[in-house]
Amino acid sequence: MKLKILIVILAIFQFVYVSADIHFVKFRQKMVEKQIKARGVKNKRVLEALLKVERHKFVPKKYKNYSYEDYPLPIGYGQTISQPYIVALMTELIEPSPHDRVLEIGTGSGYQAAILAELCKEVYTVEIIPELANQAEKIFKELGYKNIKVRIGDGFYGWEEYSPFDGIIVTCAPEYIPEPLIKQLKEGGRMVIPVGDYFQELVLVRKVKGKIKKKKIIPVRFVPMKGDIERIKKD
Ligand code: SAH
Repeated sequence: MKLKILIVILAIFQFVYVSADIHFVKFRQKMVEKQIKARGVKNKRVLEALLKVERHKFVPKKYKNYSYEDYPLPIGYGQTISQPYIVALMTELIEPSPHDRVLEIGTGSGYQAAILAELCKEVYTVEIIPELANQAEKIFKELGYKNIKVRIGDGFYGWEEYSPFDGIIVTCAPEYIPEPLIKQLKEGGRMVIPVGDYFQELVLVRKVKGKIKKKKIIPVRFVPMKGDIERIKKD
């Protein structure tokens, strides 16, 4: 009898634990320790945002249990949500601060935008696939983010209306850095962007006294930027 009661209590505990997504808290802690801190990301606010944002809410149901693993995951339409470490690294590189206004190109699942929304004042994000943009907007609403604006369009042109930006994160890879994005970066601003075709480099761009300074960070593999970049050659 006692054993039966114990089993029922354990089952209830497990049900509450899983249904309330409590186990994901542990997964997130492990992800931050083993994948992110261990590889050298130090910015405290960035680490806190990664601990807080529920990555599994941005991942298709069938991959939910893999949300905190050390790799990208498919999000439909041939696109992917980036590996957690890459999200952390790119976020740290733009040095986000609470009064910053930032632009993201390639909303995808919306996860990177949510991380930025925890760290900055306003986030503007552009996505070329309408279904992904709409789905991300729905999640932002559900999670109560009021400082993210989504636009369906070609991120090659940035989002001029709200420019200039303190930071720009590009999460799809163009073969060269689009001129409008350079123009829309504020003096002193930081942009992080994967550049290249099959082999890509993550490049950190800074605008200092009107001039552009570039620094290569690491080789990466992002989905290609689509749209007008495929037709407009660099002059
Ligand atoms: N930041 C995303 C990762 C998205 S993957 C996340 O956190 O999940 C890259 C995204 O860039 C894809 O959704 C793709 O549709 C989008 N994309 C590709 N070319 C684009 C363009 N020219 N403008 C805007 N988005 C683009």
